[in-house]
Amino acid sequence: SIPRNRKPDWIRVKAPVSKGYEETRALMRELKLNTVCEEAACPNIGECWTKKHATVMILGDVCTRACAFCNVKTGMPRKVDPLEPENVAEAAARLGLQHIVVTSVDRDDLPDGGAGQFVKVIEALRRTTPATTIEILTPDFRGLMRPAVEAICAAGPDVYNHNLETVPRLYPTIRPGARYYASLRLLEEVKRHDPAIFTKSGIMLGLGEERLEVHQVMDDMRSADVDFITMGQYLQPTPRHAAVADFITPQVFNAYGAVARAKGFLQVAASPLTRSSYHADADFAAMKAA
Ligand code: SF4
Ligand code: SF4
Repeated sequence: SIPRNRKPDWIRVKAPVSKGYEETRALMRELKLNTVCEEAACPNIGECWTKKHATVMILGDVCTRACAFCNVKTGMPRKVDPLEPENVAEAAARLGLQHIVVTSVDRDDLPDGGAGQFVKVIEALRRTTPATTIEILTPDFRGLMRPAVEAICAAGPDVYNHNLETVPRLYPTIRPGARYYASLRLLEEVKRHDPAIFTKSGIMLGLGEERLEVHQVMDDMRSADVDFITMGQYLQPTPRHAAVADFITPQVFNAYGAVARAKGFLQVAASPLTRSSYHADADFAAMKAA
């Protein structure tokens, strides 16, 4: 097997140097937007930003939680930027995005958990770039889940993503601030509010999960009527984060992908470098055309 501290060759990524990359970075700085591409140290940033695909992270760059897999800073969160919704819409227009993915840090400190800012971003995007399809990737909103989901669904995103991240057995160590069944219920609640919204969820592999546990997560998602699934290799952002338990081979990813398709997901993305937002635009377009 592959030593845990050495990345296998299939985790090869392009260096982030290109005109498109520089332009994407400059635009994000100009509009004072954070991206999960940078904050999560995503391995695909070279490829995505070259193509001017960036995933905006709203509500600041400081999170009120500290998940063991996540590179986002933790601590005292910043004030919500009232200009952010318009700036996200301007970024979508200037990048020429046909599909935008918007995510956020967790804001357990805000009275609405940050749901209102998601609504404002969706509204600004609909005004400025009405042809752009909108995918949002939200936190679980804890005790505020119902009102938050209701408000966001009423704003009408095309895709609502909330990641389960890992199998329930690993929650206490990997995602200690969250509850597996609360996240599943959030996904169910979105469908209940508006069955026309596609729901999406994902997990990271390589944290020590067993094959049958992964199959169970897929079954749980399908029971909650989740439409799209993503599965990618967990990479340790820094030595302070959870260690990689194993590097899953591309063949095993393909096998998981086949199982997911057999279980009835409308869209399946399973590969070592798959992330929630990786190729989300092309996958969504292909799914709608099918
Ligand atoms: Fe950004 Fe997503 Fe691409 Fe990663 S995969 S660089 S998070 S758009
Ligand atoms: Fe990262 Fe989200 Fe966990 Fe915050 S809640 S630490 S942004 S994964």
